[in-house]
Amino acid sequence: MDPREEETTPPQQIPPAARRHAESALTPADAARYDARFASRAAGIVSSVMRDLMSLAERPDIISLAGGFPNTESFERRVFDDVVEAVARDHLASALQYGPTEGLHELRERIVEMMAEGGAAADVDDIMVTSGGQQAIDLSIRTFVDPGDTILAEGPTYPGAVPSFTTYEARVEHVPMDEDGLRVDLVEAALDRLAAEGRPPKLLYTIPNFHNPGGVTMSLERRRRLIRIAHERELIVVEDNPYGWIRFEGDPLPTLWELDDGAGWVIHLSTFSKILSPGVRVGWIAAPAAVLRKMNLGKQAQDLCTSTLSQRIVVEYMRRYDWRDYVARLNAIYRSRRDAMLRALEEEMPPEATWTHPEGGLFLWATMPPYIDTTDLLALAVEKYEVAFVPGRGAFLDGRGGDSMRLNFSGVDEATIAEGVRRLGLAVAEMTELHRALGGLT
Ligand code: PMP
Repeated sequence: MDPREEETTPPQQIPPAARRHAESALTPADAARYDARFASRAAGIVSSVMRDLMSLAERPDIISLAGGFPNTESFERRVFDDVVEAVARDHLASALQYGPTEGLHELRERIVEMMAEGGAAADVDDIMVTSGGQQAIDLSIRTFVDPGDTILAEGPTYPGAVPSFTTYEARVEHVPMDEDGLRVDLVEAALDRLAAEGRPPKLLYTIPNFHNPGGVTMSLERRRRLIRIAHERELIVVEDNPYGWIRFEGDPLPTLWELDDGAGWVIHLSTFSKILSPGVRVGWIAAPAAVLRKMNLGKQAQDLCTSTLSQRIVVEYMRRYDWRDYVARLNAIYRSRRDAMLRALEEEMPPEATWTHPEGGLFLWATMPPYIDTTDLLALAVEKYEVAFVPGRGAFLDGRGGDSMRLNFSGVDEATIAEGVRRLGLAVAEMTELHRALGGLT
């Protein structure tokens, strides 16, 4: 169907009486009628713990180290005005119109240029624009995963991918990470085991750069080995790379897409959320044409096309300004905030606690002494000490992660980070005391 046909459908008049059907007016018993009718994919869907914690970030009394907020405050008003003015002047009608499902050609060209700068060769036809990196993940899972299919993902994995994994009823096998990222040797072991069990994984979902939430980066040697495995074992690798440009220490590493060198085993996902703005909700997928064709159909079902207005804003911004200057400014801010968090953790955490030292991205992963359950700790931290973080269980689908947490260092300034970690230290100390009082420590 031509999406424009929608425009001819008159808007429905909703009679005032319909308001009594609003969810808020239903009793729990009324609401239960739906339970038996929910599709299994809706019944089994697990929320992203980060989204559940979003409301805490809005409470002014709480210091939130939970969100994944890039620093949008440093985006200059004059730049925004100029870009929006250019869109209004030169592209108003088309910016307000539907666009192609695969995205504006000009934007796909810009994406190809950006990828080339990072060393990754792609053609415009390899690119589909998505509504954020989130849709790119969802389309990847939707396109390949049937209910009950196995997929591999790091443990911990991105909590925001959990609703997609569960919607499509994937069985997630976590593969551990260490300071060099995904344990690629254990990927091979998992492939052997799953083949023997008769359920070879449909794909591996991985975040090689500045893992969210792990804070670690896959080494070059492991990247090469992973690509060798993908080629030898015919494994599809979904490389989620929202943070590749957010490096403030060390040298950039080639993407898996680049190392795959056109062999077609890597699907590369990225986004403008961290290099420009998460508010524009523009991301992309680079994939072989046969895969993109299927994903295009999936996207038609989801949203017809990504906001043309947003895409136009991104194109005009990329044409008029050097996005790398802005990213360099952001990275300087993040580096200083990361350092503030590392210093504060050193001062406030007990000696048994450990944490990762990210060279980029927005997060680090901290592991507490084993007697601390971070889900319980969050309740105490929020209620008594007014500080929030993402508890580790939200990053696993197998119940693990109870001793860990994700801490964000991009969203608040250095002084607030120091105060937030100080409060967190008090909460940890209180739980440690309790444990000791119960005779748990000798
Ligand atoms: N993948 C990862 C690993 C992320 O951290 C994020 C954002 N937090 C996304 C995807 C989603 O990106 P977007 O905001 O562009 O939807």
